[in-house]
Amino acid sequence: MPATETHPTPALREADRLMTICNACRYCEGLCAVFPAMELRREFSAGDLNYLANLCHGCGACYYDCQYAAPHEFDVNVPVALSKLRAESYQRYAWPGALSGLFERNGAKVALAAVLAVLAFLAGFLALVDRQVLFASHVGPGAFYAIMPHNAMVALFGAVFVFAIVAMVFSVRAFWRDTGGGEGAIGDGSIWRAMIDAGRLRNLDGGGAGCMNADERPTDNRKLYHHFTFYGFILCLASTSLATLLHYALDWQAPYAWWNPVVVLGTLGGIGLVIGPVGLLAARRRRDRAIATDGQSAMGIAFLWMLLLTGLTGLLLLVLRATPAMGLALAVHLGFVLGLFATMPYGKFVHGIYRFAALVRYASESQVKDDAEIKNT
Ligand code: SF4
Ligand code: SF4
Repeated sequence: MPATETHPTPALREADRLMTICNACRYCEGLCAVFPAMELRREFSAGDLNYLANLCHGCGACYYDCQYAAPHEFDVNVPVALSKLRAESYQRYAWPGALSGLFERNGAKVALAAVLAVLAFLAGFLALVDRQVLFASHVGPGAFYAIMPHNAMVALFGAVFVFAIVAMVFSVRAFWRDTGGGEGAIGDGSIWRAMIDAGRLRNLDGGGAGCMNADERPTDNRKLYHHFTFYGFILCLASTSLATLLHYALDWQAPYAWWNPVVVLGTLGGIGLVIGPVGLLAARRRRDRAIATDGQSAMGIAFLWMLLLTGLTGLLLLVLRATPAMGLALAVHLGFVLGLFATMPYGKFVHGIYRFAALVRYASESQVKDDAEIKNT
């Protein structure tokens, strides 16, 4: 196994060792996209391994199906090996590189960012807004802006959001290049097929049985709650985008009526961001320790709490928006939103962009393989 010796980190060496064993065994090839992608290779570069690691959805099925898992001397545990490598890849591709250290002890850093952002908004409002205004009931268009001017909100959140997007674009570009992507690497229809796979979480079902739990009974709960979380986030993003459009294009100022699509989308999204993370946090507690990794767990838990508190405080703001408590509710909600935006490129959020890029590459590779097979028949 010469390539194993050349990899610079233990996570890469272990992933290389396991993929070499799995490539000889191939028992799990029907479980998910990782094994068919692995079978296209004889040796594994660091880029290949990082690609396979991010293609893995961590369902756990291949661990329970494996005849070479401990106590066998091969000690094969693909979910844990690929999970550790995934975490390492987040750091490897982070942009700018000087901030890659934020992925170490990530759970504590994300929690600290959220607390500091909420405290900064509370302190800022208490220091800068007249108490009679802060604790008054505001109704009608522009009510929120009595507390914080719209332009200030746009400048602050726009700057942080744009930085997060730029950082993630550079990060995924580095991942794409390192994992073999380049000119012409995206096949026709690959992005669409990846969107369908990502939208359905096709690879998070353990080959059809579902995700494995500590009692070794697979369920679809993780997939279901991931859908709540993902689509909840998308609906909240759609609500915010629509509100921005209405503000600038039609001069319709928030807060909007209950029936307005901005509020409907935001409410449904907020509910998704509560149900999904609560379900995923509960699913983590039932997960077998044999397929869990501590560093990844802390990062994932901090991210889920950040989403949960963003959704929860958004719904709370909706309920309290015409009361004297609106100012404080707004401070807390904006704090969590800012914390979420600021930590997006340096936390568990990035699993979504790397996994999507891996799915695009998998769709492209599969297309090339299918075309070659058709040609040879
Ligand atoms: S995980 Fe185990 S059973 Fe599955 S392909 Fe790898 S070695 Fe074979
Ligand atoms: S997605 Fe599931 S079956 Fe596939 S490699 Fe990851 S843990 Fe194993």
